[in-house]
Amino acid sequence: MKVPPELSNEVYENMMTSRIPSGKSFEELLMESKLLTGEKLRELSARVIKEKKSIEQILLETGFSEEKLAAVKAGYLGYEFVNLSSYPVPPSELLKHIKPAYAKNYKVLPVTYDDGTLTIAMVEPRDCMTLDEVVRLYRDAKFRIRDVRVVMTSSKQLFAAIDKFYAVPREEVEMKSILTQVAASFKQRVEIAEVAREDATENSGPIVMLANMVIEKAFKKGASDVHLEPALDHLRIRYRIDGELSEVMIVPKYAQDALITRLKIMCDMRLDERRQPQDGKIDFTKYNPVATIDIRVSTVPTPYGEDVVMRILDKKSDILSLAMLGFNEHNMRLYKEAISAPYGVILHVGPTGSGKTTALYAALKTLDTIDVKIVTAEDPVEYTLGGQIIQSHINPVAGFTFAKAIRAFMRHDPDIILIGEVRDLETAKTMIEASLTGHLVFSTIHTNDAVGTVTRLMKMGIEPYLIADSLLLVCAQRLVRMICPKCKESYTVTGEEVRLSKGDIKQGTTLYRGRGCNACGGIGYKGRTGVFELFSMNKKLRSLFIKGATTEELERIAKETGMRTLRQDAIEKALKGITTLEEVVSTTLAE
Ligand SMILES: [Zn+2]
Repeated sequence: MKVPPELSNEVYENMMTSRIPSGKSFEELLMESKLLTGEKLRELSARVIKEKKSIEQILLETGFSEEKLAAVKAGYLGYEFVNLSSYPVPPSELLKHIKPAYAKNYKVLPVTYDDGTLTIAMVEPRDCMTLDEVVRLYRDAKFRIRDVRVVMTSSKQLFAAIDKFYAVPREEVEMKSILTQVAASFKQRVEIAEVAREDATENSGPIVMLANMVIEKAFKKGASDVHLEPALDHLRIRYRIDGELSEVMIVPKYAQDALITRLKIMCDMRLDERRQPQDGKIDFTKYNPVATIDIRVSTVPTPYGEDVVMRILDKKSDILSLAMLGFNEHNMRLYKEAISAPYGVILHVGPTGSGKTTALYAALKTLDTIDVKIVTAEDPVEYTLGGQIIQSHINPVAGFTFAKAIRAFMRHDPDIILIGEVRDLETAKTMIEASLTGHLVFSTIHTNDAVGTVTRLMKMGIEPYLIADSLLLVCAQRLVRMICPKCKESYTVTGEEVRLSKGDIKQGTTLYRGRGCNACGGIGYKGRTGVFELFSMNKKLRSLFIKGATTEELERIAKETGMRTLRQDAIEKALKGITTLEEVVSTTLAE
């Protein structure tokens, strides 16, 4: 190994020999730490030979915690294993010599400098090249390094520490520097696909860093989608946060194809196909263990290049509980009553992005106890629910439709069935059949309001008496933005707003709004909550169905027997200071 001129041979010797290996084999230590039994180890050793992988790789694939393995490995190699979260943020003087993207790519991080000793945390301390490079990067530092101490950590801890140590606004600065690097790399007129591919193996080029950073930043800001939109002379990147799109970056046109190609490589799309839409998936945890997200990627060809939309699915995001959805007391009671019935149909309705899936998942989580069997047919499976719930992915193109899935499920003796969406008569019929044979069935329909959903089912060709017998509840829903609690202020309603609300709000009423502050990025809103309209089946409504009532009659009786409309629920939330009148008006219709 090349010795940097500033460090004496003695320091280097020291650095490499200061560790004290345990003298035992990695496998022995694994058994000693009770991570593995001898039997399991023999079984895995066979895989090591067969699959030509290291025991470590196999263990990680089998689901062993990276953290525990790293600790055992540290013992085996003779390094101290440290918990980085207990380290204070090092002075910027120390950090500035290593860029965060470099630290992530090479899994290395300077943590302390004390009286001539530089301590570096590494995930793979045997990586001499990196160690060498890091020491070289400190050559121009004003402090003198007399000794280098290497400590070991897990990649998860390392990434978390990098994010903590190099918090914004350094990230913004770095984004600019990456774009500059992108520009520089294109001056050499390299083939675009070549750059993206080379980066893919090297994992360090500017395009790779840019792709990772676009995703990491979206994850940190809590964006649900990332849009890459090619225009005539640039590529625009926008994030959707709390339902609103905002521009975050303009990428120069010359980098467009390389960036999109890089994303296509990450999700195994066909690179030579640019004229047909494609779909793919990225498990981003592979690139950054802290970002526990899956990303669904789809491309659509446009005259200026492929338009890419990435939907970010947070694997860790705790499924909301029913209490967090935004039901008021009255609606919560109706909803709980419906889901505690032994059989029947519960429908969540609303346009795309109205929180239907979230609500369904919250309901299933509530019902997931040891004595019930829950199965789902989804297109696609958006979140892994865990617990006892069995989730399946339907594939209509291959003929595995919702209706087929439900019929197959019946043989598995479930108690509760979730059908992703009712799109056609066949699915609707199977759903009703399933409920009438003693199952609780949840599903969604693309309709606007609760009563409209019932009418829609009848128009599809479902007999009214079947609806009367099987339907328990229709939950129409929308999402409204919540006022930022840090900058919320009250005000008195004026004539203009009375007009805006079409008379739903009276002159002189106290309402609320967000002034905009640092906590909400100046928008005045933070997070979203649901507004609901619950059509809950009762005796009166049931007899109306059988008589063959009109939509108007159903609507009137539903209201008389306790249905509160979307608009009413939204207004209630505005009066309570949860949301603004503006949100009420833009998400719900006046009656
Ligand atoms: Zn605010």
